[in-house]
Amino acid sequence: MTEQTDYTFTYSALSNHVIFGMGRLAEVKSEAERLEGERAMVLSTPHQKELAERVAALLGERCAVIHPYAVQHVPYETITAALEDVRSHKVDILVAPGGGSTVGLAKGVALETGLPILAIPTTYAGSEMTHIWGISRDGRKTTGRDPGVKPKSVIYDPELVRSLPPSMSLTSGINAMAHAVEALYAENRNPIASMMAEESIRQLAKGLPAVVADPEDMEARSASLYGAWLAATVLDMVGMALHHKLCHTLGGSFGMPHARTHTVILPYAIAYNHSHIPQAVEQLGRALGCAPQDVAGAVQDISRSNGGPVSLKELGFKEKDLDKAAEIANQNKYYNPRPFTQTDLRTVLGAAFSGERPDS
Ligand code: NAD
Repeated sequence: MTEQTDYTFTYSALSNHVIFGMGRLAEVKSEAERLEGERAMVLSTPHQKELAERVAALLGERCAVIHPYAVQHVPYETITAALEDVRSHKVDILVAPGGGSTVGLAKGVALETGLPILAIPTTYAGSEMTHIWGISRDGRKTTGRDPGVKPKSVIYDPELVRSLPPSMSLTSGINAMAHAVEALYAENRNPIASMMAEESIRQLAKGLPAVVADPEDMEARSASLYGAWLAATVLDMVGMALHHKLCHTLGGSFGMPHARTHTVILPYAIAYNHSHIPQAVEQLGRALGCAPQDVAGAVQDISRSNGGPVSLKELGFKEKDLDKAAEIANQNKYYNPRPFTQTDLRTVLGAAFSGERPDS
């Protein structure tokens, strides 16, 4: 076992209240009460309106309005529309059952109003644990940090992730794993975040294949959601690096799908950084149960062996756009444990395009 050798760090965490366990959605009313919310707005996507209605029924007289209009990337107009409902229904708490898009809309409303959020995640994306917001306006997505948008309470109920199809569970879970992996080598990493990140990767690597094999396996659903919670917690604590920059470039400039792109890129980001992150590599090896030199390939195996994507090619990315993507990802320098040039980024993206098993 690698010993803790890095005794210089800064630790900062914004706390919130987390309720975790099967069936604990039933506690939503008492939780709203604890937060002194008497007139809730329940947000959801149109697709998850039924869940919003279920949550509203549990809230009973504490629900003022259901607002089922959350969409991807939080367009500013959706915030404006939600604000109208907030005013006309005298809303004093936002209850957000759903994935990153629904929690994202609640955060947009909280940014304008200061209202508290009670989040109820139904994917592994992790927005519910962070004070990071993202809003799209005039075709551009802006992100920022504000302690006020971090949900005051989060109810994690593995029953709610049951309906997430296995293929989405796999890629959403690997998207979560990417937060934990980059936390291990973050510029501002700290021992607490690293312990949580290693355990997150262990739980996700164990839980996700079991969820794909049997989506009704609630122990696997619980392990995966627990891993996702740990990953989201570290995402809120430390900064990310190359992997996230590449994914934001591919998503933001080329419209590539969020979780599937994370799934494809992660093994190649690990392979590129491998020689510069010895402690992270040991932790990854322990969490994945493989040799340290094989961690990048082992991460890819989780997707490949469970029918997930392994190449940008199969996600429909155009080979002719590789140069442009490398150029954009090279703009605005940012931290990464291993320095890089535009040519390096082109090599990483080229490998991810092909999908060949990475060699650390
Ligand atoms: P999502 O919220 O867009 O959901 C995708 C689709 O799946 C939606 O149609 C939704 O209704 C449906 N869905 C959600 N849960 C389901 C379930 N249990 N069963 C069946 N269908 C379900 O996707 P996401 O991956 O959760 O979130 C991605 C977004 O979140 C991205 O825009 C990303 O930028 C953002 N995000 C933000 C942060 C942050 O800290 N601010 C962190 C992670 C992700």
